[in-house]
Amino acid sequence: MRVLKHIMAAIIFVVSATFPAGASETLKELQKPQAGDSRAGDHAASPAEPAGTKKKRKVPPGAEKPTAESSRDVAPINTEDTVKRILEGKSNSHPKKKSVSHKKKVSHTAENHSKESAHTAIPVDAEEAVKRLLEGNRRYIAEKNSASHRTARRRTEVSKGQHPFAIIVGCSDSRVPPEILFDQGIGDLFVVRSAGNVIDDIAIGSIEYAVEHLGVQLIMVLGHERCGAVDATLKGGAVGGKLKSIIDAIKPAVDKAKAKGQTSHGCDLLCSSVKSNARTVAEKLRTSSPVLTEPIENGMLRVVGAYYELESGLVSLTYKPVL
Ligand SMILES: [Zn+2]
Repeated sequence: MRVLKHIMAAIIFVVSATFPAGASETLKELQKPQAGDSRAGDHAASPAEPAGTKKKRKVPPGAEKPTAESSRDVAPINTEDTVKRILEGKSNSHPKKKSVSHKKKVSHTAENHSKESAHTAIPVDAEEAVKRLLEGNRRYIAEKNSASHRTARRRTEVSKGQHPFAIIVGCSDSRVPPEILFDQGIGDLFVVRSAGNVIDDIAIGSIEYAVEHLGVQLIMVLGHERCGAVDATLKGGAVGGKLKSIIDAIKPAVDKAKAKGQTSHGCDLLCSSVKSNARTVAEKLRTSSPVLTEPIENGMLRVVGAYYELESGLVSLTYKPVL
């Protein structure tokens, strides 16, 4: 109602600037300020100006300002009403005092959902995490995506804290976005990406954070079909800039794949090199950081390797030392 009233006020102002006082007098009756509406007075004053601004009605002085104010006011009221209806399941319960009640409502909403977040914060073990990922991947392949974690409700739910159930170490390749191919949403996956899904100290530090502070119990290193970084490493040749550090990181895995031959993983040399690289990265994670090694040895953290097929969309586990 308040939105309508302000829109009405803006319309009335333009109309009253166009028509003689007689017409605007009648229209004024429609926009009398109501008790408790502190902003009504701002708009009630505007129609008093038309006499002096009649010739400037193409751009009436002051008309832009109320209109702009109305535009600014409409968005947050609209958003608040929408979020309120979605989260509380109520309708037509707009705030009585917007500026104060808005903050209160956000806080109230956060409180409500912190209880739900506590529920979703129950640790997900590695086996369950793998199951969720592969089930999500099957939904993605079948184009039966679940949008449940891509809503305003989910956004609010995770705004006070994150509880991802898996860490994905993936390639930066634009065709391999983890949230999409595993059909997950906001707050579900802790993702570290680089060309060739290789890791350095910064990436390991990021993973340590997710394990130590977020309680994630599964790391999946995800290679993919026709990975350009692995292919470049396989083909050799000179590379410039910092790209060399990526090639250098991938090379040991490619060398292993070459030594085993093209059928080492049941696929061609590029494919087997990608799988070898995922395994090498997984093993590096197991041994290069005490923060990760300890929970792995205690069985609280698992590291697996996986392979994504670009065309079919299928993700399959290629390395699962414990599971
Ligand atoms: Zn790649």
